[in-house]
Amino acid sequence: MYVITVKNLTISYNKKPAIKGVNLNIEPGSVIGIIGPNGAGKSTLLKGMLGLLPFDTGDIKIFGENIDRSRKRISYIPQREQFDWDFPINVEDVVMMGRYAHLPIVGFPKAGDKEIVRQVLEKVEMDKYAKRQIRQLSGGQQQRVFLARALAQESDIYFLDEPFVGVDAKTERAIFKLMKELKGIGKTLLVVHHDLSMVKNYFDKLIMINQTLIAYGDSEKVFTPELVNKTYGGRLTMLQKTEELVSG
Ligand code: ADP
Ligand code: MG
Repeated sequence: MYVITVKNLTISYNKKPAIKGVNLNIEPGSVIGIIGPNGAGKSTLLKGMLGLLPFDTGDIKIFGENIDRSRKRISYIPQREQFDWDFPINVEDVVMMGRYAHLPIVGFPKAGDKEIVRQVLEKVEMDKYAKRQIRQLSGGQQQRVFLARALAQESDIYFLDEPFVGVDAKTERAIFKLMKELKGIGKTLLVVHHDLSMVKNYFDKLIMINQTLIAYGDSEKVFTPELVNKTYGGRLTMLQKTEELVSG
């Protein structure tokens, strides 16, 4: 059974399509990169699969069910600039938000929830910062807190939108390690990544998109100069770089 099926998905902003006629069948247990140039529709695809945007056409199933029934099984870390923390909230409380789906409607966190929050903060090496205001942290530290929140949710699918952008080396390693670990316990990860470095190291499979789906398959098979150039518009400067990246 597929984790996610996308049929003929078209999503527009102001009647201008951002993605067109996308079809995908996503198998469980892999780390899948979504690559393509800026404005290619990568974030739109993720938001569409989460049911956050209206479709022009298309149908999406998560574990064979409509999104409304299965959204709780997905953790989503949006692209970073979308966060605006001008209200006071500490690290611990941000991570506890990940537990809300597990709490009763009018409920307070139980000891078990607090223990999970502690464990996931330890996992991303942010346990010492539990009481710190989120806005006082560096970009990389914030990103690790958002990862911890996603982990606390105990989902089956993880959507990460450009998690590596603007983070330090320590955070990059932490993200990579978590991706492998989650995959190891059968989770499915979809990770937007706009540049071409580390593609083969990070991802088992790739969704290559530029408005339409250019390719979906094992990184080994689809990360070729031809398909990369098709995805990135075939600019000459890219071509040279691509040859190096693909062979390297
Ligand atoms: P990517 O994540 O690959 O950079 P996006 O999915 O964010 O691309 O955007 C795809 C296209 O849709 C771009 O041309 C972008 O300008 C446009 N777009 C994205 N979000 C909006 C929005 N909220 N309103 C209008 N246009 C948008
Ligand atoms: Mg984006």
